[in-house]
Amino acid sequence: MEMNCKHVWNYISEYIDGSIDDELRAQIESHLEHCEICSAILDSTRNILYLTADNRTFALPVGFSERLRARLEEEMAKSTDSP
Ligand SMILES: [Zn+2]
Repeated sequence: MEMNCKHVWNYISEYIDGSIDDELRAQIESHLEHCEICSAILDSTRNILYLTADNRTFALPVGFSERLRARLEEEMAKSTDSP
């Protein structure tokens, strides 16, 4: 199965956390190799997770969360435009 950006975003917290199975991890990594958007999102998310690592939850600071969501929605709109 071909992994697309939305799949990667769904699994990104588990990917960073290491609680993802090997097959899924390999699929995400091969996607990240050729997708700049997901690589950038992974980097940003990882930075935030380090800052919030104490409580081990995937709660993003409000401002970041809104910016990230806006970015994701923008990219999703783009990807659904093309059939
Ligand atoms: Zn992607």
